Amino acid sequence: MDTMLALRYITGFFPLSHTYMNRTQDERQVIRHEFQLLKQVPGLVHGVFTRHGGVSRPPYAALNVAFNNGDSFEAVCENLSRVKDALRISQLVAGIQVHGDTVHLVDDEALRSAKNRYPVVLTPPGDALVTNLKGTGLLIKIADCQAVFLVDPVREVIANVHCGWRGSVNGLLLKVVRLLNTRYGCRPEDLLAAVGPSLGPCCAEFRNYRRELPPSFLAFQTKPEYFDFWAISRGQLINAGLLSEHIEVAERCTVCESRHFFSYRGEGTTGRMAAVLSWKG
Ligand SMILES: [Zn+2]
Repeated sequence: MDTMLALRYITGFFPLSHTYMNRTQDERQVIRHEFQLLKQVPGLVHGVFTRHGGVSRPPYAALNVAFNNGDSFEAVCENLSRVKDALRISQLVAGIQVHGDTVHLVDDEALRSAKNRYPVVLTPPGDALVTNLKGTGLLIKIADCQAVFLVDPVREVIANVHCGWRGSVNGLLLKVVRLLNTRYGCRPEDLLAAVGPSLGPCCAEFRNYRRELPPSFLAFQTKPEYFDFWAISRGQLINAGLLSEHIEVAERCTVCESRHFFSYRGEGTTGRMAAVLSWKG
């Protein structure tokens, strides 16, 4: 049997369906979730990248951007380069995320003292990054936790916040909004906020909620032991002074959409997605 005949034989038995073709194309391309609110801001680029379009092997397939979960260093470097290329930015800055409430100001001095680990600049441990520098992408790594983008189009300041349930309990979003005000003069009513794909109310089960969550979160209980952290973040942002119409929640659950997103709850050992916010360089 010659090669062409063999090919016809094979394709005849395994026709490529439209669904299969789409899936293959998805997995080869870098794809990111974007927010309508932020697409309207001149000079801003952003995205919560899906797991597609990277080079990491399972269980990190494919666009894993975390160095510390067991994936190969070279694969993560290549993935980070693809993220930068997709957004056309020259520099990515990330912190070691510890589910704390430390906020880092990313200015020239911080960049000079940070570690350069190609192709990402590492700040000391912390879960929120703030900058007004152009061409400096703020990277938060997620797999179920929220990345919350904050943008002040007036003062031209941005923040990217890693907000898991501990961040919600610690009131991290309020802390960042206050710092934006005291450090840069940002008015909360000017801020735009976007909450990325993350653990949805469908899958946010907290069996130990009496011990882990404050009583005020009971208002966001959707059924026994389940909580709506999308609504919790929206409520915290409004309490911090943001306008309701300035908040966009992706409302995409990372557990339910595990084909597109990494999910720590759904998969255990897995990759981390890149959530990036930057002024153009
Ligand atoms: Zn879900």
